[in-house]
Amino acid sequence: ARRPLVVGNWKMNCTRATAQQLLADLLAGLPTDAKAQVGVCPAYVFIPELGAMLAGKTIALGAQNVADQDQGAFTGEISAPMLKEFGCAYAIVGHSERRLVYGETNALVAARYAKAIEHGITPIFCVGETLEEREQDKTFAVIDEQLQAVLDLCGVASLSQAVIAYEPVWAIGTGRTATTEQAQEVHAYIRAQIAKLDAEVAEGLQILYGGSVKADNAAALFGMPDVDGGLVGGASLDAKSFLAICLAA
Ligand code: 13P
Repeated sequence: ARRPLVVGNWKMNCTRATAQQLLADLLAGLPTDAKAQVGVCPAYVFIPELGAMLAGKTIALGAQNVADQDQGAFTGEISAPMLKEFGCAYAIVGHSERRLVYGETNALVAARYAKAIEHGITPIFCVGETLEEREQDKTFAVIDEQLQAVLDLCGVASLSQAVIAYEPVWAIGTGRTATTEQAQEVHAYIRAQIAKLDAEVAEGLQILYGGSVKADNAAALFGMPDVDGGLVGGASLDAKSFLAICLAA
């Protein structure tokens, strides 16, 4: 059985003080025997001190992206070895905000994924279609392309050290959550595509749902057979809501 995973993507939010408070509240409120593994992905600048707060704790630390290079003249980027040094276990790659607002291509996302894998950081690899793509019945084709870029570069075995997050773009920050059936359909599709290549990898792969996950819809989503937890944006900034979501997994 796959262990559920719930990750908070804090995006470009919090001050130094509110980030510390949020994490302190999560540490105080999360039972040590929670069924789900829980992680938080704060903005890069908060990673050193939040990482120190998490030493020896059960909440895992992640970054919101990772460079496609190890070091050098790449202004504005943060490498996997740097994240590793500060205790990051996870790095989100291919979030739709990176793809759509900052123009990251499938090839670049795959290169970032590869660096995470190479350095022992678990990539949380995001896939998902826009509303326009869904309405044109291109959902599966879009996900195939996003997935194929990673498979071409790193192979199916790499997915045994990765997590996939299905985040339909139309559900992100909109309050318009995918129905449980819509989420399950795509999650099952992703798992089936991977199972064609390696059934064991597919069976063990955690596939998270992201897009307007809230305390009141989390249990239904996480109850679907191929939904192994969530990648939570807005609701992860409120300790009470996020804890409720974690406990729903
Ligand atoms: P919301 O939960 O705010 O819709 O954001 C989802 C998301 O993008 C998580 O990565």
